[in-house]
Amino acid sequence: MSTPLVVTIDGPAGAGKSTVARRLARRLGYRLLDTGAIYRAVAITALGRGVDLDDEAGLAAIAADLAIDFAFEGDVNHVFLGGADVTTAIRTPEASKAASLVSRHPAVRAALLALQRRLGGSGGVVVEGRDTGTVVFPDAGAKFFLTASDEERARRRQLELEAGGGVVPSFEHTLREIRERDDRDASRDVAPMVAADDAVIVDSSTASLDEVIDQIAAEVARRAS
Ligand code: C5P
Repeated sequence: MSTPLVVTIDGPAGAGKSTVARRLARRLGYRLLDTGAIYRAVAITALGRGVDLDDEAGLAAIAADLAIDFAFEGDVNHVFLGGADVTTAIRTPEASKAASLVSRHPAVRAALLALQRRLGGSGGVVVEGRDTGTVVFPDAGAKFFLTASDEERARRRQLELEAGGGVVPSFEHTLREIRERDDRDASRDVAPMVAADDAVIVDSSTASLDEVIDQIAAEVARRAS
């Protein structure tokens, strides 16, 4: 019998984390905890209420009171906020930037820590984010840090935006946004994006996502047995 683990997948925007985490969760029969969606939910709530993204106390109050839920429908991990489906609303470029600004604030991160542990704590879960292996679940049974070159990540983001049918910015614009977001996420004082010492580093620049998932699933199976 294998033991259900907490599996963490951290890494920068566009490395393929979401797809890998989702498909891995489906394959293992695990739940999926998308922690980026939680920061995004705080961000769109703040934007909707006109709370300034520098207002740490105001943002922390939103975080402390966040009524967020996840549910797989087919292969889509739907996100509900106060019962409303915000799966698409949290994915706009505006929400991405606002989430990164919101996530700089220590009081916001502290307020979301307990929520993330409650949602993922019992195991049998794939947790996806930036600091899930270092801060949120330091004792996770298997940790991965998924990365890829800046250019490859920008190329994938363009394809996603194209598939979404909205306005697609230039490649240079997307590349610049990705680099800005990485810099902000990696250089913040609290819980910066960094690989845990005991994380397996996986570079998806040249491997296909199928290969990446196979590699990660094999490692999880080894640890869970
Ligand atoms: O992963 P995703 O792109 O949805 O994350 C949105 C933003 O939320 C990130 O740019 C980052 O600033 C923040 N985040 C974080 N810690 C996490 C997950 C996301 O700071 N564990």
